[in-house]
Amino acid sequence: MLIAVPKEIHPGEKRVALIPASVDRLLKNGAQVTIEAGLGSSIGIPDDDYRKVGAAIENNRGALFQNADLILRLRKPPIEEIPLIKKGSIHISFLDPFGERFLIESFVTHQVSAISMEMIPRTTRAQKMDALSSQANLAGYVSVILAAERLPKIFPMLITPAGTLTPARVFIIGVGVAGLQAIATARRLGARVEAFDTRPAVEEQVLSLGAKFVKIDLGETGQTQQGYAKALTAEQLEKQRLGMAKVCAQSDVVITTAQLFGRKAPLLLTQSMLAQMRPGTIVIDMAVESGGNVEGSKLNEEIELNGVRVIGLGNLPGRVAVHASQMYSSNLHNFIEEYWDKDARAFRLKLDDEIIKGCLLTHQGQIVNEQIKNLKS
Ligand code: NAD
Repeated sequence: MLIAVPKEIHPGEKRVALIPASVDRLLKNGAQVTIEAGLGSSIGIPDDDYRKVGAAIENNRGALFQNADLILRLRKPPIEEIPLIKKGSIHISFLDPFGERFLIESFVTHQVSAISMEMIPRTTRAQKMDALSSQANLAGYVSVILAAERLPKIFPMLITPAGTLTPARVFIIGVGVAGLQAIATARRLGARVEAFDTRPAVEEQVLSLGAKFVKIDLGETGQTQQGYAKALTAEQLEKQRLGMAKVCAQSDVVITTAQLFGRKAPLLLTQSMLAQMRPGTIVIDMAVESGGNVEGSKLNEEIELNGVRVIGLGNLPGRVAVHASQMYSSNLHNFIEEYWDKDARAFRLKLDDEIIKGCLLTHQGQIVNEQIKNLKS
């Protein structure tokens, strides 16, 4: 089975889908691996490092698509590349399946089996393949480092002959994978951290990281079977904003990470809440790529509103591209190994497997994923 890895072509993307250590593992399982020349250059891995472990290097991107049985990449492909892919082959990457209807249809038309990394279920068995988590974890870390650099204060308390400095106050809104890492990172830097999430179950995790859980009574909030937050009603959201406004006004840094799987992110910080915050406060909108938690935040921009700096930088894990690539690459090789048939030396799509059922979107010219199928109708 020939596994091919094209270079990422999204502007500014430095992450790499597969690093040589993963190539080595796949080759040891009996796969053949071909990478596009220059695959690892954005993180300082020369082609020779791939060659040394046994990968073939291909200069012609079109030939790579034509010959591959399994294509691995990080970002969704541009739609014009789908017709280049061999019929009957498998394509694995992030796909933005709720926003990319035409792309999914193109996989159907060209009879490519598309696996979406976003749709891998958040179960214990799938943890090692969970790229949403691996990347969100790093994004949480980066958000705090970014905030610490932009804040005109230090994070820890400092008692010196020149006076005592109080610790920075950091408020994390949304305590999923990114939020937990943001809390842990801010705590390690010495900040005083508060956090809020609509899922009451996370309170214990917040406390165990040495942060305070902000209590706001929103009534029944609930979560989906997958553990994702449910959307709040308009009244609940208003209550939440009122409950958070005071904490925001007292904070030096507010990091919002709240997302709703497959839907637009909830608006949590309004202009009037921003107006109540102190000049110099840093706000990081980590949900900016899925609609934004902060009113007025702009993707890939840092704007100032009444002295409050609202940062909407996208692709935060891309800022630590070496580790982000290492983790994504592990997620991929773990996924492939899970379904690898050693005798046949091939990746097998087990159609009745829970993880495959969750993440396989198209197969043999049809949409096979229930969630995505239902979206269409
Ligand atoms: P996410 O990125 O979808 O959302 C981030 C956080 O925002 C979530 O904690 C969510 O509850 C919260 N949120 C949504 N609306 C909010 C609002 N109005 N105000 C405040 N917070 C709000 O979440 P994620 O990091 O992808 O995690 C999703 C779930 O999956 C979590 O329950 C997580 O623990 C779980 N998970 C499980 C596993 C596993 O068991 N293998 C792995 C990873 C994540």
